[in-house]
Amino acid sequence: MITIKNVYMHYGSTVALEDVSFCVKEGEILGLLGPNGAGKSTLMRILTTFIYPTRGTAVLGGYDILEQPLRVRELVGYMPETVPLYMDMRVDEYLAFVGNARGIRGSALQKRFDWLVDACGITGVWKHGIHELSKGFRQRVGLAQSLIHDPKILILDEPTSGLDPLQIIGIRRLVKELAKEKTIIFSTHILQEVEVLADRIVIINEGRIVSQGTKEELAREAMRYRCHTLTVKEPKETVEKALKGLLHAKDISFVSESKDGFVTFDVMSAFEDPLIVQEMDNLNKEKKWPVRTLAERRFNLEDLFISLLSKRKKVESVPGGR
Ligand code: ADP
Repeated sequence: MITIKNVYMHYGSTVALEDVSFCVKEGEILGLLGPNGAGKSTLMRILTTFIYPTRGTAVLGGYDILEQPLRVRELVGYMPETVPLYMDMRVDEYLAFVGNARGIRGSALQKRFDWLVDACGITGVWKHGIHELSKGFRQRVGLAQSLIHDPKILILDEPTSGLDPLQIIGIRRLVKELAKEKTIIFSTHILQEVEVLADRIVIINEGRIVSQGTKEELAREAMRYRCHTLTVKEPKETVEKALKGLLHAKDISFVSESKDGFVTFDVMSAFEDPLIVQEMDNLNKEKKWPVRTLAERRFNLEDLFISLLSKRKKVESVPGGR
């Protein structure tokens, strides 16, 4: 349903997207996961034809964003991160306005309203002024405007941002329900959000895709690594230098330094490489450091995510070795 082909976006000298390509199948919920500034909103603005990419293109439901942007707009419902609401309108007036702008009137609009109030849970606020609504209800009205023309594709930019836990659950349920008949891309910077909502995850950092797959595939990818966490009372630079000398470590990252002089580092290595355990042991014996803890664990999805975001280039090179 969606094919993104080698998309680049430059804002002056800022490279917001660099060679981004992926596909979304019909009926799939794709979670676009990345920290603030990763390029998620930029990609969504490109897919909804708000802006054009510097290079590359995307095809949605058979329509190219560069060649047939109006067709794409008909096909897509878009909820930007800041929902475009008019505070001085009532909910029903606002949705009628959006419907009319999309060319929907009369009984056709009424039919959409009947469905929307129920689907988006806005019956109780239908005649309320938008300025009176809580953030959760504003988000629901934002979702309603994106659905007014019954689009095949929904693009939701951080749909749960700023909501309380109950509101988050409400929106998540709604998105799951909508996915029964729509293809959905949503963005978030929260790992748990994609874990519960997405069929497939694309992780983006600094404008580039750093990993993608189903939750299970990414969890399997994570299991290929292990992490030794070392806490020791030594100067940070001394420990860092020694750890960098480990031949079987893929990556070293500084975690914290306590007031009483203990430093903590994570040492990442390939799970199938047992020699790192020996190397850590030897290092300990040789240095005779006052070690407080030396713990070993297998990577989980969260470790992989953090590692991908902080050390993108190094982690990318892991499969082929150091
Ligand atoms: P995200 O949605 O993941 O937080 P954005 O797509 O908003 O990321 O931003 C990606 C990068 O592009 C950031 O460095 C941001 O500062 C920059 N950026 C976004 N929009 C503009 C713009 N209109 N002009 C200049 N730089 C921009």
